[in-house]
This record gives sequence, C-alpha cells and structure tokens, in this order.
Amino acid sequence: METLIGIDVGNTNLTGALATADGKPLHKTRRQSDRFGGAAAGLRLIGEILTELQERAKREGGYVRRIGVGFGGPVDFPRGLALLSHQNPGWENTPLRDELQKRFGVPVVVDNDANAGTLGEWRFGAGRGVDELLYVNIGTGIGGGVIANGQLVRGAQNLAGEIGHIIVRRDGPVCTCRKRGCLEACAAGAAIGRRGSEALGRPVDGKEVFALAGKGDPAAQGVLRDVIEDLAHGLGIAVGLLNPALIIIGGGLSEAPPPLFLDPLRRALPRYCLDAAAAKLRVERAQLGYDAGVMGAVALAMS
Ligand SMILES: [Zn+2]
Repeated sequence: METLIGIDVGNTNLTGALATADGKPLHKTRRQSDRFGGAAAGLRLIGEILTELQERAKREGGYVRRIGVGFGGPVDFPRGLALLSHQNPGWENTPLRDELQKRFGVPVVVDNDANAGTLGEWRFGAGRGVDELLYVNIGTGIGGGVIANGQLVRGAQNLAGEIGHIIVRRDGPVCTCRKRGCLEACAAGAAIGRRGSEALGRPVDGKEVFALAGKGDPAAQGVLRDVIEDLAHGLGIAVGLLNPALIIIGGGLSEAPPPLFLDPLRRALPRYCLDAAAAKLRVERAQLGYDAGVMGAVALAMS
C-alpha cells in the first residue's frame, strides 16, 4: 500500500500523520517543540516522528511515497529551505528538504504552514471542490493562501497570500514586520487584545473582548466593530484582486460565536468590494480546526 506522511512543524508542537494515498489519516503522533534548540533539535524531533511513521507504514505492509512538511515560517519553496522561524530561534536557512530526503530516502516537499493550511482546507475541508478561494488564518497573527484556477498561488518568492501584511491604515500601529498599519497589526488576536485594553482602560486579551462584547459591553462591541471593519477592508482588497468564490476563515478567531464575528464580517465585506464580486462570495469557517496543520502537510505530500 502506498502511503504519505505529513508533518506540521509548529512553534509549540510537531505533529506527524501517516495517511493513505488519497489523504485518509491512519496514524498520528506528536512531539513538543524544543523552542530554543533551533534546527538541530527540530530535525531530531522530525526524525523521530518520521521513523515512527515509516515503521508504522511498514507494519501495515506499505511504503511511504512522499513526505510533506508544513513549516511555521517563510520557506524558499524551490530550494526546500526553511528561511527562519518567527517564534523559535536557530532555523535560519535550514535545508529541510535535502536533509530529510538524504536521511529517509523519500521525496520531500517543504512549504510554509499557511500554504499547507490552504491546501488542506481545499482538499479536505471547507474548500472541497472550490477552485477559486482565499484562506485566511487569524490567530495571534494573520496568514493566508490563495487557490486560483485550481492551483496554489505562490508568487515570485512564495509570499503570495500574505494578507496579514496588506496595509489597511497608513498611520496604524507598528506590525511585527516593522511596517505600519498592516491588517495583522489591526485585526489579529494580539491586536484585538491591544485595542480592547485601550478602549476598556485595563489589560484584556482578545478572548475577553469577545466575551465582554457577547455580554453587551458597548466598549468591547465598539472594538470588534472597528476590527471587523479593518478586516473587511483587507479582505476587500484581496477580493478585488482575486475574485474568489469562497473565503475560508481559520485560526483561533474562527471559533468566535458567529453573531460576534463571521456574521458582521459577511455584512461588512460588500462595502469594500464590487457588488458583483460580493454577491457570489461565500465566507465560511475552516473545517479542519486543530488538524489543519498536519492535514495541510498531508495535502502538500499529495501535491
Ligand atoms: Zn506587517
């Protein structure tokens, strides 16, 4: 039996899955990241996961045809290099693909976790059968990816779909990328906490802003209104460029109660794009949830 392996190299966990050739998971395994061990520790943990899954494949009478790795940071896709990790030091320019191919003798595909997540939702989740879609992951930060014409769009440097760094407020707050007013700096989980703290006059996080808004707190509701307006503005720019049939919202914020988040976002979007583009546009919650990373990596192995 032909099998695939997907590995999600996240900031806190590494998750691996053995799957059938059409992506049905057979076995999953997880390790905690060594956050300060850099690439050496990361490669050792990935090696442990691969060994376990390869043995598992053998026991089931199969072999591993390809390995997909979704990495939590920018990736030089043609060269299979992890360029750096935003959260964990010591990953700079790691030849992840070549190292793993050499060691395990199986073809390896490495991409960033946003592209992997996009492929995962397209193959297995909310985007099944939709060949024009935008995937937006809103957690602490904002990442994303684009499927156009039934293909993942990478751009010249594998940076296509980086919707978190579309600028929506020229004089807005400074972003992790050091520019001002990026969508991520205005509307990601961390930004909601910051805007909530300013409005409420005490430190709160994003979750608390949602909880207070749900209880009818006008200041918290005002914060969410502004955040959703910024988000609609950023998404509207992407809609103008891509004319997607579907926007999939994943990440922590997609778990917010729809009346507080997805519903008002759906209502706001038409103000930021052409009527005709908005009329046919669906905005849906991602379906893979906690499995998005590893199923994305399996989808990478299929691609
Ligand atoms: Zn930015």
